[in-house]
Amino acid sequence: MNALKTLLLAFSLLVASQAKAGFITINESALDGIFSQSSFDNNPIDIRIGTATELVFPDLLNITTKQQVTKLFNQHIGPFDFVNFYFIDFISACGNANNNNFVGCGEFPGNDFVVESSFAAGANGSELLAHELGHNLGLDHRSGGLMDPNINNSTLLSSTEVSTIRNSRLVQTDGQNFWININPVAIVAAATTQVPEPSTLLLLLLSISFFVRKNRLKN
Ligand SMILES: [Zn+2]
Repeated sequence: MNALKTLLLAFSLLVASQAKAGFITINESALDGIFSQSSFDNNPIDIRIGTATELVFPDLLNITTKQQVTKLFNQHIGPFDFVNFYFIDFISACGNANNNNFVGCGEFPGNDFVVESSFAAGANGSELLAHELGHNLGLDHRSGGLMDPNINNSTLLSSTEVSTIRNSRLVQTDGQNFWININPVAIVAAATTQVPEPSTLLLLLLSISFFVRKNRLKN
């Protein structure tokens, strides 16, 4: 086998391994920015990302039924008032809705949501995470802004929406500061023995998936 073939084989093995594991991407400062925008009137809600957990559930990497969504959310890590961000490979079911363009699904209200890892790692990842968190906090869909059901490059929240968020039991306070605790969870097919280093290949894959998945639904 020549060197190029060996390289290509390693390449495809890496592709295969990457496709069977959710991976966590959270831009905490970008989320903090969304939850401190002007409609928060200088009373920001701090997004606090806790320790990441890896759960082995090969049957939950590709979610195509609402039963799988229910099973996933039943794995909740931590206390009730900690939100779980689950990262998987693919999702096409949410509640009673099915759509191949879904990239996320969140309880409304609740303390769990799930997103496709590849989309969360792309340019609109923070918009997606904040949108699903918005559902957990009691926000329904509306046209325009963060809660628009489509990825629309907007993270705007209205004063009314901020009032709803402040009434959520997920918002913690010590009387002076406000915050929301998050536990990120990666769903994998098998326990990770080593974390692959970010490579040009991975970056290439991510840009391809983002390109293909533009205009997808947040749900
Ligand atoms: Zn939604």
